Amino acid sequence: MREAIDKAIVEAKLNIIPIRLGCGSWECRCGRPHSVPIKTWGKAGSVEITLIPAPRGTGLAAGDTAKIVLRLAGVKDVWTFSKGETRSKENMARATLEALRNTLSFKFTKDWMRA
Ligand SMILES: [Zn+2]
Repeated sequence: MREAIDKAIVEAKLNIIPIRLGCGSWECRCGRPHSVPIKTWGKAGSVEITLIPAPRGTGLAAGDTAKIVLRLAGVKDVWTFSKGETRSKENMARATLEALRNTLSFKFTKDWMRA
């Protein structure tokens, strides 16, 4: 058991990914990185999750599993919509991570000037 935990930690540290935080909510527009910059989507197995930018103070409107992943990622306010077998914890966590990874799949106008 101990060994499995150690190996999982090593595996996790080798798979750290960059994500983009922002404020994509039209109700907020504060520009601070407290939510996701765009509506984003992820899928794992049958589980699909959509992360929707929310204004400051909304909190994490997500299921318990997704909430843990989002909190670790530094997301403070977000609305979510999910479908599929969302009680399967592993796929729920993977889908949430995938949705966060997809925040980098979109190029913003302010990125055009960057080299
Ligand atoms: Zn904001």
